[in-house]
Amino acid sequence: MNRDIPALLSKYNREIPRYTSYPTVPYWQDFEDIRAYRENFQSRFSAGNRQEGIALYLHLPFCDTLCTYCGCNKIITTNHSVEEDYLNAIIAEWYQYRKLMSETPVIRELHLGGGTPTFFSADNLRRLLNCLFDLADVHDNRSFSVEGHPNNTTKAHLKLLSQFGFRRISLGVQDHNPEVQRIINRVQPYENVQKVTEWAREAGFSSVNFDLIYGLPRQTEKSIEKTIRDTIALRPDRIAFYSYAHVPWKAKAQRLYDERDLPLPEEKIRFYLIARQLFVEAGYVDIGMDHFALPGDDLYKAFQEGGLHRNFMGYTDARTNFLVGLGLSAISDTGTAYAQNTKKLSDYYRLIQSGMLPVKKGYLLSPTDRILREYILDIACKGSTFLQAEHDGLLNRYVLPELRTMVTDGLLTLNNRQIQVTPIGRLFLRNICHAFDLKNRDAGFGQDKGRFSQAV
Ligand code: SF4
Repeated sequence: MNRDIPALLSKYNREIPRYTSYPTVPYWQDFEDIRAYRENFQSRFSAGNRQEGIALYLHLPFCDTLCTYCGCNKIITTNHSVEEDYLNAIIAEWYQYRKLMSETPVIRELHLGGGTPTFFSADNLRRLLNCLFDLADVHDNRSFSVEGHPNNTTKAHLKLLSQFGFRRISLGVQDHNPEVQRIINRVQPYENVQKVTEWAREAGFSSVNFDLIYGLPRQTEKSIEKTIRDTIALRPDRIAFYSYAHVPWKAKAQRLYDERDLPLPEEKIRFYLIARQLFVEAGYVDIGMDHFALPGDDLYKAFQEGGLHRNFMGYTDARTNFLVGLGLSAISDTGTAYAQNTKKLSDYYRLIQSGMLPVKKGYLLSPTDRILREYILDIACKGSTFLQAEHDGLLNRYVLPELRTMVTDGLLTLNNRQIQVTPIGRLFLRNICHAFDLKNRDAGFGQDKGRFSQAV
């Protein structure tokens, strides 16, 4: 059996989705007529709201400065007068969705993402949250989170968010090395990260997450090791350790640095392995797909108890099957349909002003898609799944042969239809999920160059 990790990484390090949805976004299409989506939304909402609650994602797209590596949907401006128009629009969008809801929504998960949510003043965030909660109830088992920038998150932001019940904050740290920070145009002194982490804990946040990236220009084994050790010293409860995706044809600012400064694929693999070892030695548990958590964190507990879920916000511990995405480019997921808002600000404002949902494209899942999605969610969240006999016709031709190869490579075991991911296989969860991705296979392997990031 081949259990040599670098060799496995070389074999399996392909462009593969992160599987925050199935089918993945490149397979969605423009909605010619969104009536079917609206009907789906209404019936799915009525079916699950009281029992499970709903999740809300708010995309707040503005940033003060451009980080050159960034592939997010963002708008760079230092003009803070944009806050008001945007908040009015997102509140109007919430009112429109609210009209489609047959009863008062029960908010269970809420995530403010971006862009930079802390670009907005605390007062404006207060207005936004008041408008949301005026038309909703809050679930007893709520989970509210926010993405914070270490350079502009203030005590006032944290105090306000804590008052509204936010207990998780995710800080965009990326790398502590000053030279790497200079070249990616994200200069944020370590003291800022330390200060915001302390303030968040003082304000009552029980879970602080750091986002880190490996594969950035000018990173070295030594610099990565120092970044990881400096990170561990602040003891974040969770760490997302993402692989840098070099897609200059999409993220044009990536052309601003010299490609020769990017680490080679084999160096990236070493960075990943160095970091993973340091995290594990420091007591972090590999939850899967780039995520590490300390025992005691809710994500870890959900992982242990088999209660982990995955959606566009990444891994979550509060399972709802109904996500409403508000704001530019935001994605909604009713459980059987996806819808993504337009990515263009002028279109977003125009559609909102004409009283329409600003949805641009999406996807209504077929029964087959739903079966495959459940398998993918099982692998991503539990590291195991059971192949139902009634799905043999669907799985036997392509999925099973690929899984058997992975058994030979030591990534999983397959006994009496039960699949169990091995400890080494946890490094390759995206690949194992990909075995069930018949949509991608139907489109033809090799056609996805540039659509997804590398598995590592
Ligand atoms: S990385 Fe974050 S802060 Fe930087 S440009 Fe992208 S969205 Fe804005």
